[in-house]
Amino acid sequence: MIFEVLTIFPGLFAAFLTESLMAKARAKGLITVNITNLRDFTFDRHRTVDDRPYGGGAGMVLKAEPLALAIESLTKNNTEPLWVIALTPQGTTLTQKKVKDLAAKPRIALVCGRYEGFDQRFLDLFVHEEISIGDYVVNGGEVPAMAVMEAVARLIPGFLGQNESTLEDSFNHSLLEHPHYTRPSTFRGLEVPKILLSGDHAQVAAYRLAEAVAKTKKFRPDLLARPEAFEEALAVFGRPGSPLAVKNPTKKEG
Ligand code: SAM
Repeated sequence: MIFEVLTIFPGLFAAFLTESLMAKARAKGLITVNITNLRDFTFDRHRTVDDRPYGGGAGMVLKAEPLALAIESLTKNNTEPLWVIALTPQGTTLTQKKVKDLAAKPRIALVCGRYEGFDQRFLDLFVHEEISIGDYVVNGGEVPAMAVMEAVARLIPGFLGQNESTLEDSFNHSLLEHPHYTRPSTFRGLEVPKILLSGDHAQVAAYRLAEAVAKTKKFRPDLLARPEAFEEALAVFGRPGSPLAVKNPTKKEG
């Protein structure tokens, strides 16, 4: 998977790409991240990427030309298809489903806005989709681009350690994930639920599923209200190998 990041602040990505799992994934060759500085596609002394908005008003707008030239530099002499995403607060909100779709693409460009955003003509001419990370506004597209990259990279086989899986993650199905506990077994008067110390894998799995359902009802009842919710949960928790799959609830007894 290749990520092409277009930004006017390349330095923001330094730590993100050289620490932890993203660094390991790059070293293993699972992902490649190329950073393009939009200022390299300007021709004036000040390397200007923005200008005042037509029609007046506050703030500055990212000019279409440096953005267009930067995208063209990535598609010229490169036959790998490029899916161009602009990070914008007006875009479609990122979901795990969208993350899965993106993980199937070989090469994605993440174009980071700044100031008031992009000249609309760049969006109209070069961008396949606009993605938002939620209904709030941050200073630039760099943090949203990092969120997209990390969420997509987690789904690439080999990105997570052998004992980690995204299968039971929140939003991979209809339920939020169950609560987690680690040592000590008592912390400031609060005990770990006894069942988790029992060593009975089927009981632990049943307890966790019940907790996941309770948590989802409390925080995100909308996830359970979807018609596909039951089938999605069954596919994950009733799969072969799952401690809960001892009995297939869809199979008639006798
Ligand atoms: N004036 C713009 C508006 O109200 O939509 C906000 C511009 S914001 C200060 C600058 C840039 O940050 C945007 O062009 C976009 O690239 C990025 N950005 C801010 N919030 C975002 C969000 N929720 N999702 C994705 N990108 C965001």
